[in-house]
Amino acid sequence: MLDTENKIPLESQYKCPKCNSPFHFQVKRSWFRKKFFPNSPIRRFFCARCLRRYYIKVDPDKLKKGS
Ligand SMILES: [Zn+2]
Repeated sequence: MLDTENKIPLESQYKCPKCNSPFHFQVKRSWFRKKFFPNSPIRRFFCARCLRRYYIKVDPDKLKKGS
């Protein structure tokens, strides 16, 4: 019932290394990565300011919820 608490999107928990603003989108992983690196803590994020995608190593604890 109270599953709305602490639901901060993963992308806004990490910041762009270049402009230091929170990321805007998480880029979906390709089937290739899903298949060969299903547990990889590396995620891709898109910064709308720099118009660039970055690979970021995320905290695995933050990936536990959902899937
Ligand atoms: Zn940026």
